Amino acid sequence: MSPSVPLSVLVTGGAGFIGSHLCDRLILRGHRVVCLDNLLTGDLGNIKPLLNHPRFTFAEHDVRRPFHLKGPLDRIYNLACPASPARYQADPIATLRTCVLGALNVLELAREKGARILQASTSEVYGDPDVHPQPESYRGSVNPIGPRACYDEGKRCAETLFFDYHRMHGVAIKVARIFNTYGPRMLENDGRVVSNFVVQALRGEPLTVYGDGSQTRSFCYVNDLVDGLELLMESPPEVAGPYNLGNPQEVAIGEIASLVLAQVGSRSTVLHLPLPADDPRRRRPDISAARRLLGWNPATDLREGLARTASYFAMKLAAASSAVRREGADRAAVA
Ligand code: NAD
Ligand code: UDP
Repeated sequence: MSPSVPLSVLVTGGAGFIGSHLCDRLILRGHRVVCLDNLLTGDLGNIKPLLNHPRFTFAEHDVRRPFHLKGPLDRIYNLACPASPARYQADPIATLRTCVLGALNVLELAREKGARILQASTSEVYGDPDVHPQPESYRGSVNPIGPRACYDEGKRCAETLFFDYHRMHGVAIKVARIFNTYGPRMLENDGRVVSNFVVQALRGEPLTVYGDGSQTRSFCYVNDLVDGLELLMESPPEVAGPYNLGNPQEVAIGEIASLVLAQVGSRSTVLHLPLPADDPRRRRPDISAARRLLGWNPATDLREGLARTASYFAMKLAAASSAVRREGADRAAVA
């Protein structure tokens, strides 16, 4: 597992949802962590407890621009990229540049420092899959000119760059194909399904199910995913991947809505909205390779993970509404 010697680790996208949990884990292991993020979809609040830690440094920077770090560097986790379809489609050209230029810049850094580097790739490289569940050998069915392509093709190109840097320059690479991951620290306006449903249910607003809700996904709790990323990074050098990391329990989106309503005890209704273009009909990882080679198995039950996520958002929403009340009271006092 994690080496006992302290390492110098760079996490790009470290102020985001998954990245901030990864930073917590790496600090806990005794490593020195540089978190690089341009805060596009990240939140300094996610890393607030780390900001004064002596082994933690935050660097506000965009991975599309080259950068240098002083001193030795042992590991790079490249997570910088918006992951929510709504967010990555808001500026598709910026997303493509982040995927491709970002990969080039971190790979150059890995080459210069002799660092091992892990790419956060995605199940989206399989597009709307014809093979189910998806093994790593499946080459995917991506629409290269559709609205999701900026992300799907960007991540595919990043994988290509990783393997070419490995073949041409001997860079030690690891590629994780991450499937839908959820949990605390998703942004409440992130746009992905679990955060949308939980926040809507807590506010008593209708749950926005796109299409008839029969499309499926397989949801992995964030702590399990971070276990998988760490195991992959510290696996023997010949274990480059790509490896699927996700929870193979497949659920229809309509079923997620029902689970969230039950979990929150909400009386929200369900509002059906049009299915977005190219929305994959079904998705489930074949994780036999990760099980066999990394000894990884996601352990968190979906109901348990949703309960933890719902408590997190309940706390966030309560804190936000008491801040609004305080502000109102201050204004009234001044008036
Ligand atoms: P997120 O949006 O919460 O985090 C991404 C982070 O990257 C944010 O902090 C954002 O500010 C930062 N970022 C974006 N563009 C950047 C840039 N140009 N320069 C520097 N920083 C930048 O998303 P997440 O869910 O934490 O995903 C993290 C990574 O994992 C992403 O690369 C994503 O593609 C991948 N992934 C996530 C999932 C998932 O379900 N969460 C699934 C597959 C792949
Ligand atoms: N979805 C939904 N309501 C929402 C957000 C998403 O029904 O408010 C659906 C979306 O159409 C997709 C699934 O939930 O079929 C997962 O969407 P998400 O954006 O979380 O991730 P994706 O797997 O599509 O990248």
